[in-house]
Amino acid sequence: MWMRDVPLAGLTRWKIGGPAPAFARARTELELRDLLAELGEGPVLVMGSGANLLIADEGSGCPVLVLDGEFKTFDLAEQSIRCGAAALISSVVQAARRAGRGGLWILEAVPGTMGGALRMNAGTPEEGIWERVLWAEIMRRDGRLDRVQREDVEPRYRGIDLDPSAIFLRTEISAPPGDAGRVEEEHARRREAKLKAQVYDQPTCGSTWKNPEAPSPSAWQLVDRVGMRGARRGGAQVSPKHANFIVNLGGARAADVVELMIETRRRVLSETGIALEPEIQFWGFSEDVLRQLGVAA
Ligand SMILES: Cc1cc2nc3c(=O)[nH]c(=O)nc-3n(C[C@H](O)[C@H](O)[C@H](O)COP(=O)(O)OP(=O)(O)OC[C@H]3O[C@@H](n4cnc5c(N)ncnc54)[C@H](O)[C@@H]3O)c2cc1C
Repeated sequence: MWMRDVPLAGLTRWKIGGPAPAFARARTELELRDLLAELGEGPVLVMGSGANLLIADEGSGCPVLVLDGEFKTFDLAEQSIRCGAAALISSVVQAARRAGRGGLWILEAVPGTMGGALRMNAGTPEEGIWERVLWAEIMRRDGRLDRVQREDVEPRYRGIDLDPSAIFLRTEISAPPGDAGRVEEEHARRREAKLKAQVYDQPTCGSTWKNPEAPSPSAWQLVDRVGMRGARRGGAQVSPKHANFIVNLGGARAADVVELMIETRRRVLSETGIALEPEIQFWGFSEDVLRQLGVAA
């Protein structure tokens, strides 16, 4: 059932953003198809756990769907893990780690759902989840089901080339049994490094900017170089701990985050000639704001 004017901030990791004009949870494939049909034509946004999203203060501007129920489950097969798109990355990673399955360590300490991970090609700078995807099932905007194989999708750094309206429902990820000691060690090492360097005790959306291609300095180094580490606008601050993270100190508005980002990007461009590109996704912003943020049209 679609509900009207539902607040979204509490569903995002940043705790920022206005309402959705219409909002629904789909617990089964049938429910999802009915919900899409009920809306008729027009765009729909799918939300995972909001770990990579900035929603405008005025709201998402479009109806928002969240997958729930049967989409939250996952199970281990002999050489792989089959997951619903609403399964939490942390639960899947923990199950793989405990069972001594290799490869899922690239998602260690990455918040979110498997659907968000598929859309974002989440992982490390060197390796994204699509390196390990065997197939993914999607629902098209018109309710048609499709199965995409690894080779049907062009993965790139924090994204994929696939119909942007496709909704991921399920996936199967290669996760062969490995040396249990090595698997445990790899997970522990990566987790420790991430918790030490990044910000987990304040509301953030992870890396704000993509790292530009080598040999450019990394995004945090560029932000640091132009003096934006620790900079504050309203309730938002460039984290003093990690310059590529923006934290909500309390009561931050999307406009505060946007102001920090536009200022950072302007300074980096004028001082180094490098045009930063955001890693986070934006909902409900005007073309003009998106252009200033460096979001590719
Ligand atoms: C502290 C911290 C550390 C992080 N570290 C990393 C890291 O190391 N590596 C990394 O890659 N990311 C990292 N991230 C970013 C984030 O965790 C990932 O992008 C994650 O995959 C987002 O998942 P989500 O479910 O929250 O997606 P959301 O933020 O809800 O959505 C992100 C995008 O995915 C789309 N989407 C979500 N579900 C579906 C679906 N079922 N079908 C189709 N589209 C969908 C949304 O429409 C949106 O475009 C980090 C974030 C934080 C806060």
